[in-house]
Amino acid sequence: LASSLRETIRKVTGSSYVDSETIKEVVRDVQRALLKSDVNVKLALQLTKNLETRAKEEKPPAGMTSQDFLVKIIYEELLKIIGKDSKLVLKPQVIMLVGLYGQGKTTSAGKLAKFFNKKGMSCGLIAADIHRAAAYEQLDQIAKQVGVPFFGIKGEKNPVKIVKAGLKQLENIQVKIIDTSGRDALDEDLISEIKDLKQVASPDEVLYVLDATIGQQAGPQARAIDEAVGITGVIITKMDGTGKGGGALSAVSEINSPIYFIGTGEHMDDLEIFNGNKFLSRLLGLGDLETLMEAFKDTNITEEEAEESLSKLMSGKFNLMDMYDVWEKFAQPSIMRKMIDSLPLAKIPGGNKINPNDIETAQNKLSTYRVIMDSMSYKELENPEIINSKRIQRVAKGSGTSEVQVRQLLREYKAMKDNLKMMKGNRGFKKLLKNQI
Ligand code: GDP
Ligand code: MG
Repeated sequence: LASSLRETIRKVTGSSYVDSETIKEVVRDVQRALLKSDVNVKLALQLTKNLETRAKEEKPPAGMTSQDFLVKIIYEELLKIIGKDSKLVLKPQVIMLVGLYGQGKTTSAGKLAKFFNKKGMSCGLIAADIHRAAAYEQLDQIAKQVGVPFFGIKGEKNPVKIVKAGLKQLENIQVKIIDTSGRDALDEDLISEIKDLKQVASPDEVLYVLDATIGQQAGPQARAIDEAVGITGVIITKMDGTGKGGGALSAVSEINSPIYFIGTGEHMDDLEIFNGNKFLSRLLGLGDLETLMEAFKDTNITEEEAEESLSKLMSGKFNLMDMYDVWEKFAQPSIMRKMIDSLPLAKIPGGNKINPNDIETAQNKLSTYRVIMDSMSYKELENPEIINSKRIQRVAKGSGTSEVQVRQLLREYKAMKDNLKMMKGNRGFKKLLKNQI
């Protein structure tokens, strides 16, 4: 089903128009993909409703096709559920980890310590889990493994005492991380315990740790903990074990706190700074969500980047990757418009006469080309000459395009290369192009 959403989006970007039928289909596929990834029904409905309303009511901005605009809306609405995009600040601080049993608090404490160490900050761990039998030993061992100071009082049953003493002991350590107890389920006992701990520790961050595979109960749990101690950020663990994560995401949407990290394994290095694009692409099985969005980024090419592409263009050594690079930089609506305004009869690389209608075509072509090129091997991209019919067949299959489209890309490449040969050393042309940026 996730792949059917990808199919739908491809179909949209490749189609010549968007009608209400297309919108319906897209909305339904988005909804299915969300539910399949355990996103709760309420959230999925709300999101798809917004999506449908916007798709029907809003008009694409100048220079953007309605197909691309629909994809943009999908993307924006999806990003909304991820919430605020903020990072854990690298400063001396106290961090308290909270969450239920087995969510990955203790492991994440070690991973965070390693993370801060790598950023050049000293970090220490405080064992305030007095519930689990071997919690002290587990954190002690993790601290040794990472090579950071550890504080705990073996046998002590009052976690407030441990935290007080620990913060004092680790006074000169920049980042102090407190590992706390969980419970099997949310209960009064846990809530009052973490409330007390929060009061004594006055943490800068209260990080809620939750397992990506968690189901529908995650929302109410997160809300209750948030009400008790004020969750400032989230770590979603065990992303390595699932392509889903929708349950965790639904929980996060309830508390409106940023996701800072995701855990991707049992090792201390398996911690990634959260990337909303990546998370969503994975959740929805949209390998190329980010790629699709690149087409919408406003042009902000620096002079040097433009210079570099142009030199490559002019050098005569010119492969498919270079072509893509050129297309990407120059086939953007704003640049092409500028070119059209000043050079009505100019030829863009590729040999197409520029005409306002071509902007749309170029944008569509670009996304199709990217998809095709993603299915080519590095060797093929570097030496397009080796791409024979058999390879064309494979690439078309792999990219979900047609052989005709792959051949068109190759033809375009060859034409461009021939044109460049002719223009090689033509300073006037280079200057002309450069001046358009
Ligand atoms: P706590 O009870 O919340 O402190 O959870 P633990 O840190 O003890 O973790 C529970 C189990 O999950 C342990 O076996 C960990 O190795 C494992 N774990 C934690 N984070 C991850 C992760 O990101 N990926 C995987 N695969 N396992 C994890
Ligand atoms: Mg633990």
